[in-house]
Amino acid sequence: MMDASVNVQNDGTAADLRIARPTPAPEDHGPGIGPNQTTALEKCLLHVAASLDRPTTLASLHAAHSGGDGGLDIRAAITAAERAGIQAGFGKRKLADFDGTLSPAILLLDRGRAVVLHDVRPDGALVIYDPDLGDALGQITRDKLAQTYTGYALLMRALHRDDITAQRIGRSGHWFWSTLAQNRWAYAQVILAAMLANFLSLSTSLFIMVVYDRVLPNEAIESLIALTVGVGIALFFDFLIKSLRAGFIDRAGQRADMAMGRRIFDQLLDMQMGARKGSTGAMASTLREFETLREFFTSATLVAVVDLPFIVLFIGVVYLIGGPLALVPAIAVPVVLIVGIAVQPVLARLAEQSFADGQSKQSVLVETVVGLETIKSVGASRRMRARWEDAISRQSDHGMKSRAVTQFAINATAFTQQAAQVMIVFYGVFLITSGEASMGALIASVILTGRTLAPLAQLAQTLTRLNQARSSYRSLNALMQADSERPEGQSWISRPVLEGEITFQDVHFAYPDQAVDALRGVSFTIKPGEKVAILGRIGSGKSTIARLMLGLYQPKQGAVLVDGIDIRQIDPGDLRRNVGSVLQDVWLFSGTVRENISIGAIRPNDTDILKAARLSGVEDFISKHPSGYDLVLAERGEGLSGGQRQAISLARALVGHPPIVLMDEPTSSMDVQNEAAVIKNLKQELSDRTMVVVTHRTSLLELVDRIIVIDNGKVSMDGPKSMLNRATVRPRAAAGADAELRV
Ligand code: ATP
Ligand code: MG
Repeated sequence: MMDASVNVQNDGTAADLRIARPTPAPEDHGPGIGPNQTTALEKCLLHVAASLDRPTTLASLHAAHSGGDGGLDIRAAITAAERAGIQAGFGKRKLADFDGTLSPAILLLDRGRAVVLHDVRPDGALVIYDPDLGDALGQITRDKLAQTYTGYALLMRALHRDDITAQRIGRSGHWFWSTLAQNRWAYAQVILAAMLANFLSLSTSLFIMVVYDRVLPNEAIESLIALTVGVGIALFFDFLIKSLRAGFIDRAGQRADMAMGRRIFDQLLDMQMGARKGSTGAMASTLREFETLREFFTSATLVAVVDLPFIVLFIGVVYLIGGPLALVPAIAVPVVLIVGIAVQPVLARLAEQSFADGQSKQSVLVETVVGLETIKSVGASRRMRARWEDAISRQSDHGMKSRAVTQFAINATAFTQQAAQVMIVFYGVFLITSGEASMGALIASVILTGRTLAPLAQLAQTLTRLNQARSSYRSLNALMQADSERPEGQSWISRPVLEGEITFQDVHFAYPDQAVDALRGVSFTIKPGEKVAILGRIGSGKSTIARLMLGLYQPKQGAVLVDGIDIRQIDPGDLRRNVGSVLQDVWLFSGTVRENISIGAIRPNDTDILKAARLSGVEDFISKHPSGYDLVLAERGEGLSGGQRQAISLARALVGHPPIVLMDEPTSSMDVQNEAAVIKNLKQELSDRTMVVVTHRTSLLELVDRIIVIDNGKVSMDGPKSMLNRATVRPRAAAGADAELRV
């Protein structure tokens, strides 16, 4: 399980290597040490990056790959290095080959260890950085290192600043056009193939002409055989080229699919919460538009466009063999073109509308599916059905109009096509009688005119699809341009481990599109290790403060600082790994309980998971369950009770040993006993960490020393817990543990 199978081809050598990652012993990371069971490779990479003046963060290393258990393999290491502005090459290399010019290099040792080679002394000794021995550089002889060296190394160079952007593969350039441009060779091949196919298709009509005019009158069977063989070969090539062309397009499509699909998903994950627009369903439908777009650019439709210039060639050939007969296609082509183009403005408008309809339909659908239980129980079915029917009827209205217009264009084209053939025959008879054209020329002209108009027959459909693709492109592009948490070119201050000081400096904040500020000048400082409760009435802004601490939203004015650094300068990944959070709305994912607990942590082992589960009370109910930690939950944690879900989300917050723990109503669904046990556990476990609890419950105040009261987006009281005795705390019910605070 701890092995990474690597097969990276680089600098000419294919290497297949199994690199064992170190299995950290449980005692390696006791409470408070932090979640960073960084592997040797990661430590080496961070070290090289820093020494090459291209600093990167652990969070960016982890962002570079999507592997399951969080380990960094060679391929991901190369990607991560490239994103940081470092050129990296992996391959087999003898230890004797290394001299000063090949450094820095990461040498992979056995048992998953790795060292950075920095320099070679004149006496042959190697200057290395060994992550197991701390930050200082050390010396080792080649012979000694050779005993553990696997023979594989990662060579690294800093990229020139100008090249960095160019090197950030998959990240640089326009998300759509640059991916398309990467496939330009494939498209060039497609165009070339289409051109050849067009030339070859001339052969049939010429064959028929020659047979009619020369072979038939003279009964020249030998010539006929020769001609047939010739045209047969041409047809065979035509077949071959068309098959290849389909392959090229498919391959280009596949590549675009991977590259664009990943980028779109990355943008979705990195998008600022504030930039999110529209409902869940509308966003999902926008994201799905990627399919329409890809379909358009990687289908035979594009090939039809390549055929268009050949119309001129075909008309020219008709002119050569049939003389004035060329007049007929020369008139028919513009007629079809004009009809096809004239309907486009109407179709474009309809495409926009049907896109919007699709979005609203999807919104109703998603909202209904997600809220089914509530919809049934509160009797909202009628209302939802009305919305659904409204969306459907609008879509079918627009769809019908759009189809009617398209059909008109298609029919007009078909009519012109047929009329052109009839006209050619009609006109041809006169030309033959007057001796200006031959019989064979007439037949060849009929065939060629059909060929000329064939791509135009698809024009109306192609343009309709182009309109759809354009709507998809516009909305996807808007999504891709939305503000990202990791804007290109942003460099972060690397803070793998935070101390835990949190400062709000005169923070003003309003949710997007809201006129009223949710926070109006909030200031406070929470020192490392301090335990603070944030109290206040509903809607006063407590959860908003929690969201700002996590960097989910940016303040409009003022700043949120962690360890004295504005959180806008800390990699969001680093920040959130250091802040264990339980949000007010508990959200679990589909998967096992174990996966849900370990989902955000970097390589937690079973000891971590079990410990977090014990602290949060997950163990109490999961140990009684036959499937235990492998109990599979449906979406949103269906299959568990509200309190059980809350316990799991608490375990999820604790599993990575974060120095800051931020909890928004962490025990609101728990019973008194359970809550008491959790409070006791947290009190012990979090004694040296910073803790912020948002709550309405007095029982949780046992965890804290200080209280901040928020009222209407402002701090109205801030002081030690004892100040509450002076303020008005009034137990509502006899159950003392569940008293309501009135502050
Ligand atoms: P509670 O105790 O009920 O959880 P709270 O103190 O946590 O309340 P917040 O969730 O911080 O309250 O909300 C503060 C204000 O911001 C409220 O007036 C609310 O209407 C508004 N608000 C909260 N979330 C959003 C949002 N996503 N978009 C717009 N306004 C919001
Ligand atoms: Mg709240």
